[in-house]
Amino acid sequence: MAKEDLECSFCGRKKPETNLLIAGLDAHICDRCIEQAHGIVIEESKDTQTNDLAGELKLKKPHEIKEFLDGYIIGQEFSKKVISVAVYNHYKRLLQPSSDDDIEIQKSNVVMVGQTGTGKTLIAKTVAKMLNVPLAIVDATVLTEAGYVGEDVESILTRLLQAADYNLDKAQRGIVFIDEIDKIARKSDNPSITRDVSGEGVQQALLKLLEGTVVNVPPKGGRKHPDQKFIEVNTEHILFIAGGAFDGIERHISKRLNMQAMGFAASKTDDELEKDNMLKYIIPKDLKDFGLIPEIIGRLPVLTHMDPLDAGTLRAILTEPKNAIIKQYTKLFKMDDIAFSISDEALDYLVEKAVEYKLGARGLRSLCEAVLTDAMFDLPSSEETEFTVSRDYAESKLNKSTLNKLKAAS
Ligand code: ADP
Repeated sequence: MAKEDLECSFCGRKKPETNLLIAGLDAHICDRCIEQAHGIVIEESKDTQTNDLAGELKLKKPHEIKEFLDGYIIGQEFSKKVISVAVYNHYKRLLQPSSDDDIEIQKSNVVMVGQTGTGKTLIAKTVAKMLNVPLAIVDATVLTEAGYVGEDVESILTRLLQAADYNLDKAQRGIVFIDEIDKIARKSDNPSITRDVSGEGVQQALLKLLEGTVVNVPPKGGRKHPDQKFIEVNTEHILFIAGGAFDGIERHISKRLNMQAMGFAASKTDDELEKDNMLKYIIPKDLKDFGLIPEIIGRLPVLTHMDPLDAGTLRAILTEPKNAIIKQYTKLFKMDDIAFSISDEALDYLVEKAVEYKLGARGLRSLCEAVLTDAMFDLPSSEETEFTVSRDYAESKLNKSTLNKLKAAS
């Protein structure tokens, strides 16, 4: 057969009418048919992905979600429970059959209030890991209103696309963790005098995103400009989790509680309330008094607080989570065939220091590094097969380290 007579076995086009004709065993296929077939494959796999997600969610009830979180996050029982329900409802909403009645389930975006280092990011990361969805962690402080120096809010979605390897479908079911949301609070009660480009303006810009809308996103980030190609991202099914320390919000809470207390027979004195963790009395109005605009608060309807980490929690963080710091060191030493152990007294000592230096959970890692670096340097080249850290050993290493200087500073 002459080359020109060859034809696509799918559509019948002759070779000269195609750009490319690929030969198989007994057949040929042209470029157009390949493209069409590719489209079908993608559509099909989308359907299976949705079904997969449905299957997964059927398995994960709030109790199971919380159990998964328990494996990684110590304490924070209230937050873990609230978030398990929010995540469950969010994905239930996502799977609801297109409205057969008039009831539309609203988004359950979350706001977590609590000191830095108490596990807010860790919760968001763990939820994303459990659901196997992409996660973008963004810092609200870099965001500014469009047209000002800083990043537009759309950059949040660029990050999510990147986290999803530019798989739009995956990105649209992902999670965005907006850290330091408190830093975009309105600076004063009088917003009119100066432009508040990194505060209220950003809150306004975030509104649409949180609620669910289609946004033109520059795939490589950066400023929007007319000739750039955009990807349309629908935020309808993206779960937003915001976190912030809201330093000083306790004042608003206690003021409100005192006012309430005057109305009722006060059951607790000021001091008693003060001693408790004030944050557990937080309500949305306190966020408003702090400077979040009511519309933002309305779009972050699930409000939860993080408990400060006490010594007992810090101690548990060292050894209990699935990827606890001590388990990580044990694994590292084991790779050199060294059996690593650390005494309870040494662990208590590390916790004492973390509390004393006010380092929180993040500091535990630095303290361990300070204690173990010498051993990690020397032991791999030695004949040792065992290494035990006692309290004395930990103390002597820490006294030599620069971390010890923190004592003077704090
Ligand atoms: P935040 O976002 O509240 O500032 P992170 O989630 O980033 O705090 O916490 C910092 C690190 O401290 C985490 O990576 C984790 O190792 C540890 N951590 C903090 N809180 C907890 C907790 N409740 N359980 C286990 N680890 C924790």
